Amino acid sequence: MEEFLPQRRQLIAACLELAAQGYLAGTGGNLALRLDAQHIAVTPSAADYYSLEPADIAVLNLATLEQVAGHLPPSVETGLHATMLRAAPQLNASVHTHQPLASAVSLIGRPLPLRAAADIAALGPELAVIGYAPSGTRLLVRALRRQLRPQLHAYLLRNHGVICRAATLSAAVHLLGRIELAAGAFLRERARVLLAREHPLRALALAALPESVP
Ligand SMILES: [Zn+2]
Repeated sequence: MEEFLPQRRQLIAACLELAAQGYLAGTGGNLALRLDAQHIAVTPSAADYYSLEPADIAVLNLATLEQVAGHLPPSVETGLHATMLRAAPQLNASVHTHQPLASAVSLIGRPLPLRAAADIAALGPELAVIGYAPSGTRLLVRALRRQLRPQLHAYLLRNHGVICRAATLSAAVHLLGRIELAAGAFLRERARVLLAREHPLRALALAALPESVP
């Protein structure tokens, strides 16, 4: 089946972009793209992103998750992507990453607030936390389904990473970068609060230093 090769190529390009940013942590992370009303393309399970060919990318029926094309089996997180995309027919891309700072926030178990108006408009006011369940399990899909809100388009997977949906793959890649910045700001603020509690004088000295990160 040669269908949807341009979209499958786009998926590989987005993988390479995220891998270059260190957001996929080896073969971790995975991406899905809506192809038409019935079909999605999903990156393969534990694939080497640098040797992927468009024909490797799995094409699935979105309703049944039956694989109709692609040489390799789809990611074990296909159920997460299908849940994200079924619930938001206006959005076409779903991306799961292990990006370092947001994954660190996922260990804390608190929602990640977003501050910039453009980020809130695109994703909602925060990334809610999806309770922990092992990767690739129905339990994790069920946990996401329980927490999914129509106005929230990105979530922290507890002790694991991030999942984000957007109109296009490039929008999703951009928003994941924005989430990483928000995660950095959140962690810095948290570190400041902890330091102020335990070492008030050192915290005062640090507060006097200029902000080095945007
Ligand atoms: Zn993962």
